[in-house]
Amino acid sequence: MGNPQEHIVMLPYLAQGHIIPFLELARRIQERTNFTITLVNTPLNIQKLKSTQSNTSKINLVSLPFNSSDHNLPPNTETTEALSLPQVIGLFHASTSLESPFKDLVSDLTSKQGKPPLCIISDVFMGWANQVAKSLNIINVCFSTCGAYGSAAYTSVWQYLPHRSLKSDDEEFVLPGFPERCKIKRSHLHKFVRNADGTDQWSKFFQPQISLSLGSFGWLCNTVEEIEPMSLEVLKKYTKHPVWCIGPLLPPRMLDSSYNNEIFSKRGGKEPGLSPEKCLQWLDSHPENSVLYISFGSQNTISPAQMMELAKGIEESGKPFLWAIRPPIGFDLKAEFRDEWLPEKFEERMSASKRGLLVHKWAPQLDILCHKSTGAFLSHCGWNSTLESLSQGVPLIGWPLAAEQVYNSKMVEEEMGVGVELTKGLESCITKTEVKRVIEMVMENEGIRKKASEIGEMIRQGAREKDGKKGSSLQAMDHFVSTLLS
Ligand code: UDP
Repeated sequence: MGNPQEHIVMLPYLAQGHIIPFLELARRIQERTNFTITLVNTPLNIQKLKSTQSNTSKINLVSLPFNSSDHNLPPNTETTEALSLPQVIGLFHASTSLESPFKDLVSDLTSKQGKPPLCIISDVFMGWANQVAKSLNIINVCFSTCGAYGSAAYTSVWQYLPHRSLKSDDEEFVLPGFPERCKIKRSHLHKFVRNADGTDQWSKFFQPQISLSLGSFGWLCNTVEEIEPMSLEVLKKYTKHPVWCIGPLLPPRMLDSSYNNEIFSKRGGKEPGLSPEKCLQWLDSHPENSVLYISFGSQNTISPAQMMELAKGIEESGKPFLWAIRPPIGFDLKAEFRDEWLPEKFEERMSASKRGLLVHKWAPQLDILCHKSTGAFLSHCGWNSTLESLSQGVPLIGWPLAAEQVYNSKMVEEEMGVGVELTKGLESCITKTEVKRVIEMVMENEGIRKKASEIGEMIRQGAREKDGKKGSSLQAMDHFVSTLLS
């Protein structure tokens, strides 16, 4: 489909969790159209992509001038990873400085090719790209790398700031635009949102960027329409334009059912003994659906006190577990792990009894979630982790830590019924008793497992072509491309 002469320019936000789905989106568009795709970002992010992309990749990777020191950020800060909250918001504001070089770049590409790009696909956090597109008479489509519930809730909160008119943190409010049942307490939101008074740096950034994104020609969303019907309806009311659900942007191998311990990830743990192969062998030694997998994603961690309670609760639950463990808050995420962060002789005890495996640093998450022994995932509910887990029918235990994770976790429990929230909101304190109770509640509940398996099937169906009939996400992608071309 499509004319190979056509060109699309993509602009993800400065975070791995955004760049990776953009890259996958670029591949999917190219697979079916042969369009030229240029993906734009800051120099270090582009350099990193170039070093990991295969030589055969046909995506043009182009960097824009950016110097974090000009924005009072530490040198070489170009992604949100391992930044403090003030630095994260600093990076958000700094990203708007890309507007002028981005405009120059698109103008240059237009002159070189003798015609403008077919469209710009920009991150929902880069609303200013919509202004650039309008000034150059180019269509702008906004890509929200999270799901429909997260996208709609973010839009709702940042547009209407409903939490500001409440008397206390404990008062519940309905997310504007959502059905009455979608209630949340102010105490569930991040401190920086709760205290927002219109002059805070978070509202100052998000309100205009999301408003500008709402003015784009349409939205792409990394979800499957069948799994989030209500949220999708709410999101469409906000965008007033098409929303194409083209997800899940996961490796295709995860979406067919023939997974057979083939390794996705070549990155191992800290010690040579913890290669992806070793993790899989360890999982092989446990019965089906018996293992709890625990991970808080690539950039978040929990406090030392909470890490201790979590470890005790897991031990008392008696369930086998595989924990992708990082140093707690207050320590460098890349620091050497210290035994004092866990109960005495915890790792030794768990390892001797084969009860638990601690994977320091990076775990082969996709392999773990695809393995038949994995029975539940205690997760921070980052959208990639949530989709990866749901696509394999693995129930979730929600422990959100930042961003829209609080909405993802809520949606998993309240809308889908495929998990339970362990923490309510971003600053809850959890006891070992609560940890044990929720682990048992999820892992011993056949109803939750059955629902999770149904959601998993819907996700895989959406992304598959069977007997000549395309799933909804494939159809949405076709419709998106043909709309652009028409
Ligand atoms: N991930 C992984 N191993 C780890 C931690 C994370 O493979 O030890 C991957 C995970 O599979 C997911 C991504 O990193 O694709 C995390 O993205 P998510 O949106 O869940 O959370 P974030 O890291 O952006 O907070």
